[in-house]
Amino acid sequence: MVDIVEAKFVTSAPTVAAAPESDEQNEVVFMARSNVGKSSLLNALTNYKGLAKVSSTPGKTKLINYFDVTFMDRDNSNKLMAKFVDLPGFGYAKVSKSQKHDWEKNLTDYIATREQIKVFIHLIDCRHPHLDIDTQVSEFLFSNAQENQYILQIFTKIDKLNQKEQSALRREFPNALMVSSAKKRGTKKIIQVIYDLLQEEEGAHED
Ligand code: GDP
Repeated sequence: MVDIVEAKFVTSAPTVAAAPESDEQNEVVFMARSNVGKSSLLNALTNYKGLAKVSSTPGKTKLINYFDVTFMDRDNSNKLMAKFVDLPGFGYAKVSKSQKHDWEKNLTDYIATREQIKVFIHLIDCRHPHLDIDTQVSEFLFSNAQENQYILQIFTKIDKLNQKEQSALRREFPNALMVSSAKKRGTKKIIQVIYDLLQEEEGAHED
């Protein structure tokens, strides 16, 4: 079993150019529309209530937030360091065309230049799995991510669906994970999957 045993806020950066040095070379990027539950998930994964600020005003966060995170494999006490990167929420109602353009440009630059990124986590509200904006983000990631970068889709707020609806979603998106930060369901699995992906990547460099 893998836990996150330490998590701390490092810095906020207004642009990719201001991103901090990342010695551990493991970045996990979290992306979502505003209000999908990104902050709640970061807090639930790290078991740290105030780590990411749960937003009262949708779309308020415009900065990229960085957190240092330490994973520990309880079976062998192996530790693994990573940075969680909380990208600004996107797709909120009042965003202007030019803001949208800036965001996309920023993100394109980020993906193109930031080789430290190992995993992209795209969070989607389980009650709205087919929004255009999410489809666009998926397509964007699949066409822009590099070969060694994984894309993981996670449906949030799964406590809002009954069993039947959950099964239907699982059938439609067999590779996606599901989580409820509110009920703490699915968080352990996410931690394990991220850890395994980062381990795999480290192993690849040792060959
Ligand atoms: P962010 O804008 O993506 O960072 O979203 P927040 O984490 O701030 O959450 C937005 C709203 O959704 C808040 O009112 C949260 O309490 C709520 N929320 C977040 N996660 C869950 C969840 O797992 N279940 C339910 N029912 N509500 C959630």
